[in-house]
Amino acid sequence: MSLSTVWTEVDLEAPGRQVGFIRVEHSVHRSAYGTIALPFAVFANGSGPTILLMAGSHGDEYEGQLALTRLIRTLDVSRIRGRILVLPAANQPAVKAGRRTSPLDNGNLNRSFGDRFADTPTGQIAAFITEELLARCDVFLDLHSGGSSLDHIPCSYADLGTDRSMAQRTFAALEAMNAPLSWAQAGCPEGPVAGRAAVRKRVMHLSGEFGGGGRLDHGALDVAERCIYRLLDHLDILEMEEKWRADIRTRFVFNSQEHFIYAPQEGVFEPLARLGETVEAGQLAGYLHRPELPMDPPVEIRFKAEGTVAVIRSMGRSEQGDCLFQLLGETRREEILEMMESMP
Ligand SMILES: [Zn+2]
Repeated sequence: MSLSTVWTEVDLEAPGRQVGFIRVEHSVHRSAYGTIALPFAVFANGSGPTILLMAGSHGDEYEGQLALTRLIRTLDVSRIRGRILVLPAANQPAVKAGRRTSPLDNGNLNRSFGDRFADTPTGQIAAFITEELLARCDVFLDLHSGGSSLDHIPCSYADLGTDRSMAQRTFAALEAMNAPLSWAQAGCPEGPVAGRAAVRKRVMHLSGEFGGGGRLDHGALDVAERCIYRLLDHLDILEMEEKWRADIRTRFVFNSQEHFIYAPQEGVFEPLARLGETVEAGQLAGYLHRPELPMDPPVEIRFKAEGTVAVIRSMGRSEQGDCLFQLLGETRREEILEMMESMP
């Protein structure tokens, strides 16, 4: 029998409710045979699809972590049909530190899903999620927020993938989640993010940004739970409670490079727009000030496109190249349906 460096005592194929850990070998001075213990739960009952619910890929994004720990404590396995895998603190060292990246290796879990997995704790976690968890899944919901440096308007997100049938099924799931903003991107992500691993494994990839600024927001937590439970209902895994049933108005949005505004120089960032505000191309977005050079006038920041303000940098002092704003452009449902029709 071979010994793996990442394993779980949870039986992925057994019925019922199991709560345990995924263990990642981590040999250090104070613990030669030590492990990192990632909390992991499996709920399985009857036949139905398998979904992976994941949060804590970034340790300073809290709404998803809370929604999933609450789900682990309260979900009655006899009510489900299918299998729910739950990873509420995916990069556990980052979660414990309340940081975006792991203090063990500076690893950013959601940038660790490239063509090869790094031989680091974070890389090994990404490899296990891809080869052991996603390989068993039909659907993957990965919960994010803006983290410590960004405030993010609550929205759901979907990678529509590269073929029409998967795109149509993914878009139907995104619509069912019924977040206030529904953000769909066509194709396979180019960066080494979890969505790329999912699209390549032909697993439906859904995600969302729920809050940010390194704090917990109750309104955003509500949107995260709404997305989780409406998705489980849509997949016929778990009937949703009455409180999630009423549809709300959703706007369909997309993203392109001109929606991002980066700091042209260092300074103290003074934003003038608010989250959710609709802005025009050329509109004054904010200033960068340099109190260390008081005679220098502040530098004006202007939007390059029209759109809804989805992201605002939440930290004052900024360096050249920091993302200060991200907009989302509005699109119509019919345009997305038409675009999917033209896919192979
Ligand atoms: Zn994140």
